[in-house]
Amino acid sequence: MKGPILPSAAELHSLLKRLYPITRSLTGDGVRETLRVVQEVADLEIQEYPSGAQVYDWQIPREWNIRDAHISTLDGQRVVDFRRNGLHVVGYSVPVCEEMAFADLEPHLHTLPNLPDAIPYRTSYYRENWGFCLTQKQLEAMDRNARYHVVIDSTLEDGVLNFGEKLLRGTSGREFFLSTYCCHPWMANDNQSGVVLTAFLNRYLSQKEELHHSYRIVWVPETIGAISYLAHNELAMKNLEGGFVLSCCGGPGPLAYKETFLGDHLIDRAVKLAFRDAGIEPWLRPFAPDGSDERQYSMPAFRIPMCTIAKDKYYDYAYYHTSLDDPDFVTGENLLSTLKMYIDAIEILERNRVFKTTMPYCEPQLGKRGLYPQIGGAHNQFGNVKKCAMSIEAEVDALTWMMFLADGTMDMVDIAERSAQPYSNLCVAAVKLVENGLLEEIQEVNAR
Ligand code: ZN
Repeated sequence: MKGPILPSAAELHSLLKRLYPITRSLTGDGVRETLRVVQEVADLEIQEYPSGAQVYDWQIPREWNIRDAHISTLDGQRVVDFRRNGLHVVGYSVPVCEEMAFADLEPHLHTLPNLPDAIPYRTSYYRENWGFCLTQKQLEAMDRNARYHVVIDSTLEDGVLNFGEKLLRGTSGREFFLSTYCCHPWMANDNQSGVVLTAFLNRYLSQKEELHHSYRIVWVPETIGAISYLAHNELAMKNLEGGFVLSCCGGPGPLAYKETFLGDHLIDRAVKLAFRDAGIEPWLRPFAPDGSDERQYSMPAFRIPMCTIAKDKYYDYAYYHTSLDDPDFVTGENLLSTLKMYIDAIEILERNRVFKTTMPYCEPQLGKRGLYPQIGGAHNQFGNVKKCAMSIEAEVDALTWMMFLADGTMDMVDIAERSAQPYSNLCVAAVKLVENGLLEEIQEVNAR
């Protein structure tokens, strides 16, 4: 039987490169095109909410589309050209077509003097404005005494806010959440990396023969998309047990982990076990109500514990929100290593069960059931421990810990923490013990 297939690093990077140069914003053709490209990997549904709808304290903005934008000299030379890089225009800029003096144009220009080769990423979603972003070098090359022709060929009209959604059904009655944001244009780590990883996580989970838990997976425009989704799915969202915000997961920095607002929720513990068993010390980022959509999902009415596994998390890298965050900054290998960590954490949740021993009075005799090495005495003896993935010694350790701790009050995550045994070894042991009638699975307790 075929299990889920991990993508290659090249496959991850190639999707990232396709998505990168699409002109995206909160709304508009770019979001729809992005979601259609993601559909080639993930069978998400493209959904929409209408402009103008009230969602809690917010209103869904009008749909923004842009065809072209430039600052040109009066003899027609484009000194700033939106067609070369989508970051050149402030997101949601209103249309402009004017000739103006540099002095009048200057307040609308944004640069990063400390990163003179970078175009910054700027938006003005909720206040009508317009502007251009350019490198400091481009700005310095402009003639301050000249007049310029300034064009932004954009439209702001009633339309829709689009998002992608997929619901995968499991058997446990417990639902987890994966959310990423699909509004950022022309930047790779923030956040085409999250869009790509969510797509392949969707594919991975869909390919599993059986899902224990249910998963709600969304690609939403940041903030307003998350708020709109919460407002339209209030009851279902209140029942979510926890989840992940996939953001900034492909940079060259160390694997980082931003805790949920609780810090010790089952989600946190699953992630910490995944890191522990991989032998990687995560760069721990405590929860703060900033960053991405966890700050919406974890607000008092919902309190969904959301965490993030990242490589070069927002705020942690110098290229954040600039044109230098490009497909050279994000590699397929980095994407793959973060994807694997997400999968390991989710697999821990998937395999988390509560078992109870059928022999609580003394340890059962493993040897007569073929579960113990036939020659006694060598187990865990100094000099005799073979360090392979699942040596007989490791297996006996896992079996012994399972028999000792599985008293019906602890789940597999508890047992893995208490025993310091690799989670997957404990799962193998649990299966063997159940097969031999030494353990029984009991109804797990909903953590929320
Ligand atoms: Zn961002």
